[in-house]
Amino acid sequence: MHELAITQSMLDLVLEQAEKVKAEKVEKINLVIGEMSGIVDTCVEFYFEFLSKNTIANGAILSFKKTPIQVRCSHCGQLFIPKEFDWSCPSCQNSGMEIVTGNELYIESIEVE
Ligand SMILES: [Zn+2]
Repeated sequence: MHELAITQSMLDLVLEQAEKVKAEKVEKINLVIGEMSGIVDTCVEFYFEFLSKNTIANGAILSFKKTPIQVRCSHCGQLFIPKEFDWSCPSCQNSGMEIVTGNELYIESIEVE
């Protein structure tokens, strides 16, 4: 269900953008998904096909780009990509950190006709 709401707001944005440039058809949507977001691209595709019916985005190709997780050490501010089972800071070994990227879904660009 998570993906349904996300896909709906993504589609709304796409249609809004397409309308601005007076597009007749949306050809392709380039999306960026963070590895940590838990979003399943096949679910998004499934909902998109369903939701985009009767819109100019119907039949558009969805292209997904995955962004890796990047975190910032809350102790020394070091930015790093954590290893699968080792999330400690490579420079100070602190284990407190915040996720900088990897949690997002956004539209990178759309291609219209
Ligand atoms: Zn650190």
